[in-house]
Amino acid sequence: MSETEERTITGLRVEIDRGLCVGFGDCVTEASEVFRLDEEDVAVFGSDPDSVDRKKLLRACEVCPVDALTVWDTEGKQLVP
Ligand code: SF4
Repeated sequence: MSETEERTITGLRVEIDRGLCVGFGDCVTEASEVFRLDEEDVAVFGSDPDSVDRKKLLRACEVCPVDALTVWDTEGKQLVP
């Protein structure tokens, strides 16, 4: 699996830097539909990311203790971290 994964969710571009992730799962606790931990305890996108609302998505990305989750809006402005 590559070191980064990217998806567009609620119109926002979300990137997981798997090289930075330390696997405590705070993002999973906040939004388990968006994020899950793989067999190596590294974050990947979950089964139903498109069902989340934008506020919950941003909160789940903001809780990452190592800034492994980055979010940009449609104009390319970075919203998280
Ligand atoms: S909150 Fe950050 S460090 Fe923790 S599992 Fe999610 S991406 Fe990895």
